[in-house]
Amino acid sequence: MLLKTGGTSAAQELEAPAIVHLHSHPEGARAFSRVDDESDRVLHDDLAKIYEDGLPHASAIMMPDGELIARTYQAGRYVSLDGSFVIGHRVQRFPHQESSQAPAHTASHRQALGRGTTALLRSLRAVVVGCSGTGSVVVELLSRLGVGELILIDPDVIEERNLNRIVNSTWADARAGTPKVEALAQTIRHNLGELAPRIIPIQGTLADAWGIAATADIIFGCTDSAEARMHLDRMCHHYVMPYIDVGVDLSADEDDGIRYAGLAVQYLRPGGDSLFARKGYRMSVVEAESLRRTNPALYAERVRIGYIEGVEEDRPAVISINMQAASMAVNELLARLHGYRAGAPADNAIRRLNLVEEFQMASTAGPPCPIMAPMCGLGGNPPTG
Ligand SMILES: [Zn+2]
Repeated sequence: MLLKTGGTSAAQELEAPAIVHLHSHPEGARAFSRVDDESDRVLHDDLAKIYEDGLPHASAIMMPDGELIARTYQAGRYVSLDGSFVIGHRVQRFPHQESSQAPAHTASHRQALGRGTTALLRSLRAVVVGCSGTGSVVVELLSRLGVGELILIDPDVIEERNLNRIVNSTWADARAGTPKVEALAQTIRHNLGELAPRIIPIQGTLADAWGIAATADIIFGCTDSAEARMHLDRMCHHYVMPYIDVGVDLSADEDDGIRYAGLAVQYLRPGGDSLFARKGYRMSVVEAESLRRTNPALYAERVRIGYIEGVEEDRPAVISINMQAASMAVNELLARLHGYRAGAPADNAIRRLNLVEEFQMASTAGPPCPIMAPMCGLGGNPPTG
């Protein structure tokens, strides 16, 4: 179990996993008893002496339906946690208190998704890694669905060649070289005003923003970088975060024809199988990307002599295809939160759409990854570079 305390300032606390003392109330008493109060006080006073870092540990009680009610104990005071997440093939959140009035603009999707899922969206903090063709659409969709907080991560600025596909980017952004994350944040704040999510834009790589990214409740990976995918895979397991990966594969042939056009949306759950096990990225490409970033001259030389495969640059991109992939990714979130799909959630671990052959396919999740799954909840250091 991972204890995440809210706010960006909690980033440094992620380096120290918390101890959570858990017991059940099989009769369903929804409160800590006087016996619990006394035993927690003794336990937490002892833990404070052992760790001496001043960071909170927690206690939780589990109800017969799986709901968790949790609190921390610090300096003689009990503080209720905002809520708890249970992350499996479904994502459930048990809030400590019902959230306040739902904003008016969510009324129409509340009719379909109900109060519970709408309130859950409001309480979510999502990190979107990659804010370009698919990421910008994911950000737009999550904002309009009323997600509470968004952390946007992308190192690049808007260029004219991005205006074919980055939603909420403008001609003026391309002229000014506005960072993609800033352009999205500004336009969404402008469009939604007080209804906009709290947005934390970070111009940088995932490594730069690791501590803040890890405070999110869910990851959207909207990047075509193998290196970023590898880090997100690790973050999912180490920091107990469900991870939805969006991939678009579009390739043209020499005669202006389309050779392949396909989309894939993958749902990864911490402690389950990994994107690595699913061959969602190849280590040879991770290494090539890393070398290109850290030593461009050596990278160019190795590509020239055929020692490594060059990283594909400036790949083809079509907005309507990107939007379809982004919609599939956000619907994946809704399916995991709301559970509207027929069939078992484990059977939709990968959803593929082939636009040339016109078919859709869903694949079942594999067994727990022997490399990543044992790391579940252990936290860890940011990647270097
Ligand atoms: Zn008890």
